[in-house]
Amino acid sequence: MESVPRTFEFVIEIRRREADAAGQGGVGTLVETELLGRDTVPAAFLGTIEEEAIWQAYRAGRLGEDRDRAWVEIEPLFTTRWGRANAVDALELRVGDSTAGGETDKLPSCIRRVSLDAFEQPALDFVRRLRADATLGPEEGYRVEFFAIEPPRPSEPPTEPPRFRVTEHRTWPPTEPALLSEWKQSARLTNEEAGHPDDTVVFITDAAYEQALAACRRPGVAEGGAGLVGTVRNQLEPTPEKFIVIDGSFEMRHADQSQFHLAPTTETYVELERRLQQRRRRLDRPAELLVGIAHGHNFLPALDEQGGALCPSCPKRPTCTLHSAYYSADDVQFHQALFQHQIFAIGLVWGFTPREEDVLRIYGFRDGAVRERAIYRVERAPEEMS
Ligand SMILES: [Zn+2]
Repeated sequence: MESVPRTFEFVIEIRRREADAAGQGGVGTLVETELLGRDTVPAAFLGTIEEEAIWQAYRAGRLGEDRDRAWVEIEPLFTTRWGRANAVDALELRVGDSTAGGETDKLPSCIRRVSLDAFEQPALDFVRRLRADATLGPEEGYRVEFFAIEPPRPSEPPTEPPRFRVTEHRTWPPTEPALLSEWKQSARLTNEEAGHPDDTVVFITDAAYEQALAACRRPGVAEGGAGLVGTVRNQLEPTPEKFIVIDGSFEMRHADQSQFHLAPTTETYVELERRLQQRRRRLDRPAELLVGIAHGHNFLPALDEQGGALCPSCPKRPTCTLHSAYYSADDVQFHQALFQHQIFAIGLVWGFTPREEDVLRIYGFRDGAVRERAIYRVERAPEEMS
């Protein structure tokens, strides 16, 4: 008989934090006060963490080629540190493959520990809502705690049939054989300080990079965009590894482009799909995928209330470190919606310094959220060099 998997509900609690002027613990000591709200981490958000864990295990050669046989479990790691029942301070993600059959199916082939930074985004969303309805003042501090609650098990066997988790049929993307060390040989890392060892390695050719930049900087468009296309590369030796090569791009159209806002319409998605199909046929590249999007923030970092640029008249302009290259809340949402099932995809955003110099920032999923990361630039594919 199948064992019932343990499913937890993850709960966020936000409490007010105030300086304790009366001094239980001395002047300026922070004490916890009232509970401001309790909210559940959305299932869709947990889905992103699971998707990432499965991809990471597959990348490292720990899963078979049948995507539908992969399973994942999120196990909360409980803590007694705050003296509250069910408090959690980390997660363990267990990934396995049910291809072998029998008991071994239930043994994880990969276990990853993830800190609660993974819940940063739903917690910040919740804080934003509390500030919006004035439950939490704009300057007030707060404290976040996480709990994992196991729903009670029925003492009687259920008379209703169990609720099945409906999952669509999924396959791994097609791959091309390659050697990571060969690609790294002449590659330059962008945004070095944003690099992270967990991130899937991504290369972009100079030609694809320049083409995307030109599409993003189209004169007269506040936020131009480009689709980034490429392939997943598969290394078997010396260690199993999957990495991404971006070697093409096309201009994105039909987006309603306004400042701070790239709002793709249904036509954008239709156009994306059409362009991809066209490229696969015409260029005979059946393994080609949409592996990223790029867009430009074609405005200076500081704006007045009418949206006019303040930078040209600002005395700090020659040395100012501000720039407009960052994902807005809408950009993050778009990235999440577009790439929730293509977890290794990346987003490029080009902004300006006050001196109109190009600044590039790159984003991708890491531990459940869209975070800044780095990629490699290469002049051309190693197979084209002689
Ligand atoms: Zn944007």
